[in-house]
Amino acid sequence: MAPTVKSFDYLVVGAGSGGIASARRAAEFGVKVGIIEHGRWGGTCVNVGCVPKKVMYNTALHAEFIHDHKDYGFDVELKKFDWGTIKKTRDAYIHRLNGIYASNLGKSKIETMVGHASFVENGCVEVNGQRYTADHILIATGGRPVMPSIPGAEHGISSDGFFDLEDLPKKVVVVGAGYIAVELAGIFNALGADTSLLIRYDQVLRNFDSMISAAVTSNLEQTGVKLNKKTQIQSVTKQPDGTLVLETNNGQITDVNCLLWAIGRIPNTDDNGLNNWGLELDPNGHIKVDAFQNTNTKGVYALGDVCGKALLTPVAIAAGRRLAHRLFDKKPDLKLDYDNIATVVFSHPPVGTVGVTEEEAEKLHGREKLKIYSSTFTPMYYAVTEHKAKCSMKLICLLPEEKVIGLHMVGQGVDEMLQGFAVAIKMGATKAQFDDCVAIHPTSSEELVTMR
Ligand SMILES: Cc1cc2nc3c(=O)[nH]c(=O)nc-3n(C[C@H](O)[C@H](O)[C@H](O)COP(=O)(O)OP(=O)(O)OC[C@H]3O[C@@H](n4cnc5c(N)ncnc54)[C@H](O)[C@@H]3O)c2cc1C
Repeated sequence: MAPTVKSFDYLVVGAGSGGIASARRAAEFGVKVGIIEHGRWGGTCVNVGCVPKKVMYNTALHAEFIHDHKDYGFDVELKKFDWGTIKKTRDAYIHRLNGIYASNLGKSKIETMVGHASFVENGCVEVNGQRYTADHILIATGGRPVMPSIPGAEHGISSDGFFDLEDLPKKVVVVGAGYIAVELAGIFNALGADTSLLIRYDQVLRNFDSMISAAVTSNLEQTGVKLNKKTQIQSVTKQPDGTLVLETNNGQITDVNCLLWAIGRIPNTDDNGLNNWGLELDPNGHIKVDAFQNTNTKGVYALGDVCGKALLTPVAIAAGRRLAHRLFDKKPDLKLDYDNIATVVFSHPPVGTVGVTEEEAEKLHGREKLKIYSSTFTPMYYAVTEHKAKCSMKLICLLPEEKVIGLHMVGQGVDEMLQGFAVAIKMGATKAQFDDCVAIHPTSSEELVTMR
């Protein structure tokens, strides 16, 4: 007997940032929505990404500020940091969020199915032996960290494992040069672990503007992270005392308590029978979509990390909501504009960036069409401190009207500075319009409207 198939108007696979946002928005338009999730509600961002990472970043900020307390007249002595305390409160916070997400799905009258979704024949999705289908099916299955295939790699953890650590490891090696590697190495280091970062080339964040890449690489070293450049691990062995020995092309690293691989992420398209549906994938396994999140199969859409473009929570959310409006709210032309998406790296100090890098601008428009403004200064916070950290800013302007097409900054507070400037850039602001805005004094952001 053929299995029974339950039908929805909209079936969403993956209850992460994009899936939940799209499902809930669709439900507002009165359609019958079902959502499938095999892990925890909220997906990567809530459980093993942005949210717990930011809690740990905030923890690290405390450690940093403590060093400046005496310069501001406070007689504070750091006795100890207890990782267990923050892990417990962080986990409780995430647990609360999981509950809020589940309850919001309920309030939106979305049917939830818990289990691993498999894409089977006839446009059906199977979960725990039950088949589901819909006029419109969204694949928002996200991605997962890559582990290398070298001997002993399994002795290391991924960014997911970072959030399971019960204690601050004494000696840590983080591998990778992307933002996740930079952020996690920075947290370990600020909290007092002996931290090394192993990178294949000379600099971290190599796809960012060269000013950012150089500054963050230098800041890592200045804040105490040991940067092993042009270094790759060939094998890992575990010693009887539990520590790891890493064989690299530049020699051995011994007594490692924690090895963390942050070498990239792969899309969840290989473990769910997606090949049964004949969807077009790119060479890295991401689902190919057009500007409207349509796959090559009618009625099947994909968005978020599984598509491999701008892997950020707000991108998945924005694409998901727009898709719901397009499908169920009579807005046939609505789609996400992927240009000028602002992003922050929670390094020490943080990075904020929007628009094209200087290198991209040069390729796109030619050097002669550009005017670049840049500035490096010491924020006023450090006026009275022994420890100082510079702030660098760069505006990339397109001649003749000097439209601001790129804004890059690294320094204290730039993470909270960026969003408003991103609005201006999205609106097509020119340098003259930046300058026409009277500065706020004394702040670091005033530099952005007074650059010459
Ligand atoms: C360490 C780290 C830090 C990050 N920090 C930031 C940050 O600061 N800011 C930011 O904007 N972004 C950050 N990100 C990226 C952000 O988390 C992702 O871009 C975002 O979560 C993508 O949303 P999504 O909906 O595409 O996928 P996800 O949130 O990954 O959701 C996919 C969901 O699908 C489920 N799923 C997969 N396959 C199946 C299946 N077969 N059956 C059922 N369910 C399935 C998964 O369990 C998951 O819940 C970070 C990521 C990491 C790893």
